[in-house]
Amino acid sequence: MGEKKTVLVTGGSRGIGKEVALKYAENGYNIVINYVSSNTDVEELKKEFEQKGAEALILKADVTNTQEVENVVNKAIEKFGTIDVLVNNAGITKDNLLMRMTEEEFDKVININLKGTYVVTKAVIKYMMKKRCGSIINLSSVVGVAGNAGQCNYSASKAGIIGFTKSLAKELSSRNIRVNAVAPGFIQTDMTSVLSDSVKENINSQIPLKRMGSPREVANVIYFLGNDDSSYITGQVINVDGGMVM
Ligand code: NAP
Repeated sequence: MGEKKTVLVTGGSRGIGKEVALKYAENGYNIVINYVSSNTDVEELKKEFEQKGAEALILKADVTNTQEVENVVNKAIEKFGTIDVLVNNAGITKDNLLMRMTEEEFDKVININLKGTYVVTKAVIKYMMKKRCGSIINLSSVVGVAGNAGQCNYSASKAGIIGFTKSLAKELSSRNIRVNAVAPGFIQTDMTSVLSDSVKENINSQIPLKRMGSPREVANVIYFLGNDDSSYITGQVINVDGGMVM
């Protein structure tokens, strides 16, 4: 048997990121995740991955902080010797109509979602380039493709991620590193749990499949993009949205 593969999922403590990490754990990968909030129960989280038979390295690191991110990457390489798949998942929303949006709300969302993707990717690709293989999956959103009132900051960050993905796919193709983006629609996580029932009903009525998606439905596509089953796919944006945007 060959060397075990390793995935780094940013923001893997909750929601889509956690489900992605669990999917990789079930498929024999070593897991590296980071989180930012101080109330994360690291030991409990570690157990969940161990129950799937995976070793997990779980570290607190803000994706906007280069030093903290480099620490995660260095520790991952020390422990597992490789990072084969990177999933840039960490992200936040700070919704407001532009008329009311503060500079802080704008900057925070761009920094975590877009700059964070740059910081983590830059720290990881040197190892992938040396190995001449790897797969990077960035979390965009249908809102980055189609726009959404009240989310100028968020949709700009997610549209930025699409440009970043396509440019990097062109830069790294000669090194056999693939870079793709996934654009989820409305997925049941803490991020969307703040929406009222009437807003959710209204959204569901506009989705051809008439329901929100589950984190597992996004994780399945991210897992596909990370492994050799998708070996001829790079620079693409795959919507996982029940047909919301087509
Ligand atoms: P979530 O449940 O709110 O989880 C967000 C994750 O990101 C948490 O693990 C959080 O860590 C981490 N995080 C936030 N800021 C961070 C930072 N500065 N540094 C490191 N980690 C940080 O979100 P989600 O719904 O799973 O969304 C995951 C990704 O999918 C995001 O990029 C989001 O924009 C995208 N997406 C989601 C939806 C949706 O409907 N849910 C739709 C389209 C796209 P802590 O636990 O420590 O706070």
